[in-house]
Amino acid sequence: MYIARMTDKNYIRNLRIPTKENPIRILVSACLIGIKCGVDGDSYGEYPSVLMLLNYDNVKLIQFCPEDFVFGTPREMCDIHGGNGLDVLEGRAKVLTESGTDWTEGMIKASEKMLEIAQENEVELAIMMDVSAACGNRVIYDGNRFAENKKYRIGMGVCGARLHKAGFNIISWRDYESLEILYSRIDPDHKIDKSAKDFDRHEWYIDYFKDEIDNDK
Ligand code: SF4
Repeated sequence: MYIARMTDKNYIRNLRIPTKENPIRILVSACLIGIKCGVDGDSYGEYPSVLMLLNYDNVKLIQFCPEDFVFGTPREMCDIHGGNGLDVLEGRAKVLTESGTDWTEGMIKASEKMLEIAQENEVELAIMMDVSAACGNRVIYDGNRFAENKKYRIGMGVCGARLHKAGFNIISWRDYESLEILYSRIDPDHKIDKSAKDFDRHEWYIDYFKDEIDNDK
């Protein structure tokens, strides 16, 4: 079974110290910084752990919403059926909307555009919205999120998988430990919160995925 590896914290620890003249280039899921590109035309709430990045002049945020790029806003909700984002890219799984429309091809195009943007901007890190069929990078829904017995699975969305395959490092807005390390690279005065945990160390994650985690040992 393909399990997306969790954040490479050493990579973040070794990021260069950015300057105003040469800011660190970070690709973000647009909704994480308040762009109203969610399925309902909103931004899914506020994400202070990411929004704080807007306060630094040594950070260059490149925002992109892959679903808005292809499907527009507002739009239907979609999920991956039969696998994860990598499975979609390799033809083993599909992206279907809540009404059953097949968005697989459009989502693959969206992932190609996101990769193009990452490459053109030579981004050094991506921070993505988890659980999305496009931007998910740790956990996604396993099929229809509106099903009576909705399920989650470890894995990336289609755009997350495309970036990961191309070698880009990705963290989720819920990878609080990694974000703390990132802030300590950006801001010499930042005091690391030692209690911060990445998503794979959250109680919910460890409990929900205990079987997969045990099998993967
Ligand atoms: S999670 Fe990704 S695709 Fe969904 S609204 Fe945010 S940026 Fe767009």
